[in-house]
Amino acid sequence: MNFQYWQPEIEKMPRGDLESLQLQKLKAAIVNALRTTFYKERLAKAGITSADDIKTLSDLKRIPFTTKNDLRDGFPYGFLSIPKDDVVRLHASSGTTGIPTTIYFSRDDIKRWATYMARCIYGTGCGRSDVFQNMISYGLFTGGLGLHQGGEEVGMLVIPAGAGNTARQFKLMQDFGTTVIHATPSFLLHVESKMREAGVKRETLSIKCAFAGAEPYSEDTRKRIEGLLKIDVYNSYGLSEMNGPGVAFECQCKEGMHIWEDGYIAEIVNPDTLEPVKDGERGELILTILCREATPLFRYRTRDLTSFYTEPCACGRTHRRIRRITGRSDDMLIINGVNVFPSQIEEVIMGMKEVGNNYLIVVEKDGALDKLTVKTEIMPDIFMDDSRPLNALKDKIKATLQASISISPRVELHESGSLPVPEGKAVRVQDLRPKDV
Ligand code: ADP
Ligand code: ZN
Repeated sequence: MNFQYWQPEIEKMPRGDLESLQLQKLKAAIVNALRTTFYKERLAKAGITSADDIKTLSDLKRIPFTTKNDLRDGFPYGFLSIPKDDVVRLHASSGTTGIPTTIYFSRDDIKRWATYMARCIYGTGCGRSDVFQNMISYGLFTGGLGLHQGGEEVGMLVIPAGAGNTARQFKLMQDFGTTVIHATPSFLLHVESKMREAGVKRETLSIKCAFAGAEPYSEDTRKRIEGLLKIDVYNSYGLSEMNGPGVAFECQCKEGMHIWEDGYIAEIVNPDTLEPVKDGERGELILTILCREATPLFRYRTRDLTSFYTEPCACGRTHRRIRRITGRSDDMLIINGVNVFPSQIEEVIMGMKEVGNNYLIVVEKDGALDKLTVKTEIMPDIFMDDSRPLNALKDKIKATLQASISISPRVELHESGSLPVPEGKAVRVQDLRPKDV
């Protein structure tokens, strides 16, 4: 394979040099952070009052973790390290788990972010001759402008389509010969369902690849999208606290996402003990940002669960790779005492070819017990009025789930396209149990 590198001198930098660069940037980040009200106090408590107190990379461990709640406590300007007049933009998280958090950018921060995004995009084999339709929300959410800037940086023709409105999306794809798309995996599946429904022929489209991110999805879902749309799908990871997309991205090997370690220091810890896990073991990803001056963040607890690959990647990049995020540590459902991650359910159902492109997990109280219902759409070629194959399919889903999560759920089958599709991140779980019981 002919790999493309946007900044080969950095992407293939020897590990030793990469670590020296990290140390140098970490010191600069400390200088910035000492200008914020939040870190001035927090770093002083850790005995850090100047960049000279950081001698090696392991000195980072002297700084306590930063959490989403810290960011909320520091709202609005407690983490700002530059004069307000030098701030050119703010973004906020989607607020999946509560009040959104706000991040500020200087002009240079925006430029740097675009460069990281350009590395991601170019590394998938896309370039100036591509037409890039960005089918994700613009606005405070970082997914829209993040990929947009990166697309422009590599010289693609960028169509700022935004999310939703599949009919308009198809029209844009056909009018401008779109070759690359970006969306959440759930929206990509929705696009495919709508394509069939609207009778849009695949041959009328020029799409060859998609970037999919902003929410967890399984390898089976990737394969499903790739098979149905006949494209390559690359996983894209990021979070607004770390700028947004552009933190980690898959290269053409599609074997894990490279974290840009000249911009981020990544650690993986056990979410309960907060001790580092053994290399290659799964735990919570902790990130320190080195590529943003306006809002420094050290050892941020992402809550996202993943693990490092221990082997180097065949593409030659030296930046470590993380595995697909399997969910957030706070996503875990406890159903009648059994721990279940929504991603385990997705893995089972998306691997079945009869199952359609959308599903929903509902947890309710049934007397003293918890009741789990899995609602899935079915493929349009299965008829809803023939009960025998439907019952057989229900039994099959139930038995496979029971084997995987040790719980026998109720299974409901729904017609293709009948379950709700949110425009932003998919809402896969409805936990209807009363909160304080
Ligand atoms: P919020 O935390 O409110 O959802 P963001 O919009 O910043 O705010 O979303 C970032 C989160 O989205 C990440 O922490 C992660 O949980 C999820 N996410 C982003 N990209 C991926 C991906 N490729 N795979 C799995 N989860 C992802
Ligand atoms: Zn690679």
